[in-house]
Amino acid sequence: MTRAGASTFFTRRRFLAVGAAFIAMPHVARASTLASGQRKLAFDNPHTGETLTTVYWTKGDYVGEALHEVNYIMRDFRTGDVHGIDPRLLDLLHALHGKLDSRRPFEIISGYRSPQTNAQLAEHSNSVAKHSLHMKGMAIDINLPDVKLKSIRKAAVALKKGGVGYYPNSHFVHVDVGRVRTW
Ligand SMILES: [Zn+2]
Repeated sequence: MTRAGASTFFTRRRFLAVGAAFIAMPHVARASTLASGQRKLAFDNPHTGETLTTVYWTKGDYVGEALHEVNYIMRDFRTGDVHGIDPRLLDLLHALHGKLDSRRPFEIISGYRSPQTNAQLAEHSNSVAKHSLHMKGMAIDINLPDVKLKSIRKAAVALKKGGVGYYPNSHFVHVDVGRVRTW
């Protein structure tokens, strides 16, 4: 089995584990049901030129095929490693887009990072954490080309759904579904 094949296998197993965790939390699903009938997200990946528009949640549940598409477009573009993305991160992005007056997809500046990519980046930058939530599929660095970066930060902080990091020099906002915190 190739290295990439082994990684995909691991990702599928992890994905199933995430799904099971959500079944065990019925109040989460009920809150989503009340919010809207469908949840759509759109992404551009400037590193690969790929785009994706997908309904990832409908009829009271996450759409497995759509989650796989999201996992793929958010993969580590340096190594090709695909990893399960936490569905809570998609709900965060969906809520964030709803708060902003944007007609554009989220640009994925950085999605999943394999341990080797994260270690490489951390070596060259103080702003990359050694135990980054990017390595758990719980974080994404984003930009919306038709919205001011500071407006994205403000809306993300107001959501109080996890961490928000502001990187004006690199022109992206980091959001994650870890502890609520800002930097
Ligand atoms: Zn980040």
